[in-house]
Amino acid sequence: MNIEQLYSLYLRCNMVSTDTRNIPMKSMFFALKGANFNGNQFAEEAIKAGALFAIVDEKEYENESMDTYYVEDTLNALQKLAMYHRLKLNIPIIALTGSNGKTTTKELMTNVLSKRYNVLATEGNYNNHIGVPLTLLKINPNHEIAVIEMGANHLMEIDFLSNLIQPDFGYVTNFGKAHLEGFGGLEGVIKGKSELYNYLRENEKTVFVNSNDEKQVELTEGIKRICFGNNAEADYPIFFSDSLSGKCPSIVYEQTHIESPLIGEYNASNVAAAIAVGLTFEVDLEQIKEAIEEYEADNNRSQIIELENHKIILDAYNANPSSMEAALTNFQKLEGSKMVILGDMFELGDNTLEEHLIIAKKTQELGFDKILLVGQNFHQIDLNDQNNLLKFATREEVEEYLDSQTISEQTILIKGSRGMQLEKLLNHFPS
Ligand code: ATP
Ligand code: MG
Repeated sequence: MNIEQLYSLYLRCNMVSTDTRNIPMKSMFFALKGANFNGNQFAEEAIKAGALFAIVDEKEYENESMDTYYVEDTLNALQKLAMYHRLKLNIPIIALTGSNGKTTTKELMTNVLSKRYNVLATEGNYNNHIGVPLTLLKINPNHEIAVIEMGANHLMEIDFLSNLIQPDFGYVTNFGKAHLEGFGGLEGVIKGKSELYNYLRENEKTVFVNSNDEKQVELTEGIKRICFGNNAEADYPIFFSDSLSGKCPSIVYEQTHIESPLIGEYNASNVAAAIAVGLTFEVDLEQIKEAIEEYEADNNRSQIIELENHKIILDAYNANPSSMEAALTNFQKLEGSKMVILGDMFELGDNTLEEHLIIAKKTQELGFDKILLVGQNFHQIDLNDQNNLLKFATREEVEEYLDSQTISEQTILIKGSRGMQLEKLLNHFPS
């Protein structure tokens, strides 16, 4: 089956699906393979469930009388189809990547642009070699602009996704210590994220740059740039000061004050990027303000939870050394007695114990009243004894500890990698 034929099938469907548990009516089902499943085995079921077509890559499942067609490699066919579709679209696409803050920035940009346009954005965190093509294939003729998140944990992934998306605009939120394992250190991370810059440079597309980040400024030399930042020379001078409350600082652009309900000083650059995008696409400043002020985080990303005796900052969605550091520095500025509960950071490869030690020492330097470190990695590091610092090998052990104590600290930061599921600790504080 060639790409035109595949595309003509796609045009007759309402959507594309790969999820064997949920096959929508009139969809086009792509049978993907994973470590523990083979989508080919679900092709027949997909058709019975209402899919118009199924695309398989094992000959034995081919059955044209059941609208089930064979291709050599379904993942590759999905990606090619997405690219083919993209080439037929005539709308601006903004692609973003970075170590931290991609989803938050994407949602802020989407909220802002939605004030004026019909926007298609990546849903949730569908940001990889499967999620990106699925996102592209959701763009229909009614959409006026798209914002697409790209994630990566190894080199050449952003290069691949950039070529798939062919963005008109790009933005890198930051370079941080995330996925060090796959990238082989911070230099690798910078190289990996810069693959978006290479794409934009070679194809004469435009980049948004946070002009306060010297590294980004240096790496985007020679690309068409729209600079925003905390300085008067930027194309969009968007001012913010240090936050003393731990909240996202207030932001001023042309005498308009914008107050984001997000917490964390680090969110100022995410908000500023969304403002710059809104201004570029001529969204009214009042509407930009409204969009930013309406956007609240969910999914355990930096939420503030007010309990009877405690205020908890729950940031249990993910963690890596740079986001940990940003969260700790931010938390230290809050008033009152403070406890931090940190869970292991994953995917750090050979740097794992060293990075956990750096973070643990940082918590000691910042002088929190109580420090609880949770997980096999934190458990293994060698630290000078300090009686306000406790290590636990598992989350269950901290839960027992919390149940057995009266916690006197008023403000509590909870942060760890997704797999640690630290949001479960909330049940161990009296509501
Ligand atoms: P993922 O890799 O899981 O897709 P992401 O890059 O989409 O993550 P978000 O989900 O937006 O990132 O935010 C995750 C966490 O990263 C936040 O809760 C916060 O701790 C931290 N963070 C967000 N923005 C920044 C930033 N600009 N600089 C440093 N840390 C940040
Ligand atoms: Mg994300």
